[in-house]
Amino acid sequence: MKIRTFLFLLLIGAMSFACTSQKQSSLHTTEQYVVMLSMDGWRWDYASRVETPNLDYIATMGVMAEYSKPAFPSKTFPNHYSMATGLYPDNHGIVDNNFTCPELGTYRLGDRASVENGAFYGGEPIWVTAETQGVTTASFFWVGSEAPVKGVQPTYWKQFDGRVPFTDRIDTVLHWLQLPLDQRPRLVTFYFQEPDSQGHATGPDSPEIDQLVMHLDSLVGVLIAGLKDLDIYNQINLIVTSDHGMTEVSPERYIDISAYTPRNWYTRTHGGNPLLHADPIEGMMDSIYNILQQVENIYVWKKAEVPARLNYGTNPRIGELVILADSTWSVGWGRAREGYNSGGAHGWDNAKKDMHTIFYAMGPAFKVNHRHQAIEVVDLYPLIARIMGLRPAEVDGKMERVEGMLR
Ligand code: AMP
Ligand code: ZN
Ligand code: ZN
Repeated sequence: MKIRTFLFLLLIGAMSFACTSQKQSSLHTTEQYVVMLSMDGWRWDYASRVETPNLDYIATMGVMAEYSKPAFPSKTFPNHYSMATGLYPDNHGIVDNNFTCPELGTYRLGDRASVENGAFYGGEPIWVTAETQGVTTASFFWVGSEAPVKGVQPTYWKQFDGRVPFTDRIDTVLHWLQLPLDQRPRLVTFYFQEPDSQGHATGPDSPEIDQLVMHLDSLVGVLIAGLKDLDIYNQINLIVTSDHGMTEVSPERYIDISAYTPRNWYTRTHGGNPLLHADPIEGMMDSIYNILQQVENIYVWKKAEVPARLNYGTNPRIGELVILADSTWSVGWGRAREGYNSGGAHGWDNAKKDMHTIFYAMGPAFKVNHRHQAIEVVDLYPLIARIMGLRPAEVDGKMERVEGMLR
């Protein structure tokens, strides 16, 4: 009797152990990973101009959106941080690549002290959402990842250094994904500063861009091949996207704002082509505004009058006057320096087609061979949160715009 009871209990124990370990292992084999690569300044149409077999592969095995619309201004820092937080720049505070904050002073993309000062960054980057919910994350360069936001940073992160070869970045990402389970990141974001730099140098329609786009596509191939070698490949969702497009500029289309309103009429000027922020000295607002209204090929708005569709104008870091060049025109203070305003640039109205960028994705969460309507960069946050089963913060991005691409 005693022995039978003992055997019975042993059997129950063994069964429940089997159930738990099965549950645990099924948990681990169904948990989804997200690997997101941003290739800076990849205009929406670049891949249609040359052979890009690896991006085509992602589109066939997964999803390609018609385009991804950047947030205004269509610059690198505001947009990478919009991708991370799901918020428009007005709401996350990185309102330009360079700006002045009334409390914190100057923020400049080249200035480590400001880039690494968490006080500049509002909202909640997706890696903060993940880490605070117990999910390990890693970033090989991403705007905001070099500073503690809400006191949190990715478990693994790197200080930006554009000289690190792209292949080294891929190797590190693949290494992270092979770490033991308790150290392995489930969300990896990483960044290449091309084809943006080349686009600035030679313009978006140059043969150099075509060559580079093919090369970058081959690196996407290297990444995919590396991911396929991992045991967890069938759990990995790969997103390849970018922050904005590029348009051709010319020194012949340059407007010197100080030729109409001397810079000493303002107490504060910041930003950069094609978007200038300016605070007129007291009592000068209306006269400056009226003068600039007459200048062709620029828009000038009092901060509160910026068109609602740009979602821009409430943040204290935005100037009292917002001056935006039209289309492919450039603006600045003083005579343009030699060699300036040639090649390519970006930052214009995000309704402008040339500012639009790419979105590709494949993996267990995504439909196969699915063409999707245009999305916005702010939609990436809710999309990733949904895929990873994270409780999202409240954001500007819309799940409705992206959920149709999910299985
Ligand atoms: P822009 O084209 O002016 O909007 O900015 C693009 C440049 O931003 C790239 O060429 C990079 O050199 C720079 N950049 C990108 N990410 C970072 C970062 N995390 N820290 C510093 N600079 C960065
Ligand atoms: Zn950029
Ligand atoms: Zn750029």
